[in-house]
Amino acid sequence: MKDIYEIAIIGGGPGGIASAVESQLLGIKDVILFEKGEGHSTTIRKFYKDKKRVDKDYKGQKVELNGNIYFCDGTKESTLDLFDKIIQENGIEVQFQTEVESITQQNDYFLIHTAKNTEFKARFIIISIGKMGQPNKPSYPIPASIKNIVNFNANSCIDGENILVVGGGNSAVEYACVLSETNPVTLNYRRKEFSRINETNQENLIQCFEAGKITPKLGIDIESLEDENGKVKVNFTDSTSLVFDRIIYAIGGMAPVDFLRKCGIALDSDGVPVTDDNHQSSIDKIYIAGDILYKNGGSIAAALNHGFYIVQEIKKRLH
Ligand SMILES: Cc1cc2nc3c(=O)[nH]c(=O)nc-3n(C[C@H](O)[C@H](O)[C@H](O)COP(=O)(O)OP(=O)(O)OC[C@H]3O[C@@H](n4cnc5c(N)ncnc54)[C@H](O)[C@@H]3O)c2cc1C
Repeated sequence: MKDIYEIAIIGGGPGGIASAVESQLLGIKDVILFEKGEGHSTTIRKFYKDKKRVDKDYKGQKVELNGNIYFCDGTKESTLDLFDKIIQENGIEVQFQTEVESITQQNDYFLIHTAKNTEFKARFIIISIGKMGQPNKPSYPIPASIKNIVNFNANSCIDGENILVVGGGNSAVEYACVLSETNPVTLNYRRKEFSRINETNQENLIQCFEAGKITPKLGIDIESLEDENGKVKVNFTDSTSLVFDRIIYAIGGMAPVDFLRKCGIALDSDGVPVTDDNHQSSIDKIYIAGDILYKNGGSIAAALNHGFYIVQEIKKRLH
């Protein structure tokens, strides 16, 4: 593992794989790829039927491949095999089962924070997380009548609302601490200890608990939710119940726009990141590849070209 990577790539689908492989071929060796799934290309693995035909010019989008990856019409299996082969042949360093939660800027590098509570440093970032990411949902049903107050981010919160935040990772603790400035907040986690959070969040949480700004409800799980006159009644496994104006689940997974927002990347009114002609985002040295560049659409070939193009741009900027 390097102290500081030249490029960190978030997302191991076609856009991320192309970015990593083309970097190696251009001689940029200190590159790391993060993929939250067990293997690369989660979208292809999970959403394509077995033996599905894979078209290079997907849905009529004619794309001339510019890079070094020879992708052509085939099947789900042949496409995955191609990516397996080029990842191996080019010795790409991949951190599988590693979801990146956020990226923060330090002096001349970025800090990459993962859901495993590990941190990595890199000078340039390429984000290619696709559009299929979803927040994890609880296993019990959410009554339809209260769906608008059962949320998976804090975007809809109103000052003064009595809020329950559920989860034990950095996102849950960050939501709880920030909301506690303007709202009564209870934090529920099924374990008693927060073992996966970073030091800053650990300190903030202790301060909020000590100041009575967050009410802990720890070591206990939720059994069910009910509609109580338009509010959410939460039934816990210890047979207690509490009523809240709103509940926020932060139990892993994140919609792509929430990830981009968390990183401070400017989005247009369709939730598409604002980029310049070189696919650079509103943040210098953070580039965007693949499906998240489009409101609708995208294709494997287009994502491969983005990776090729972006690493050429980065190469010009590396001394
Ligand atoms: C059913 C279906 C059929 C399709 N058929 C075709 C076809 O025949 N031909 C074609 O060209 N295109 C096809 N497409 C479109 C094609 O799959 C996409 O255009 C392409 O996969 C986009 O690549 P990407 O790298 O942008 O994103 P994705 O392939 O979605 O890859 C993103 C990766 O990032 C990972 N990730 C997400 N968030 C994080 C995080 N925070 N930390 C770490 N990892 C993360 C995901 O697990 C995933 O592996 C199809 C799409 C679908 C859904």
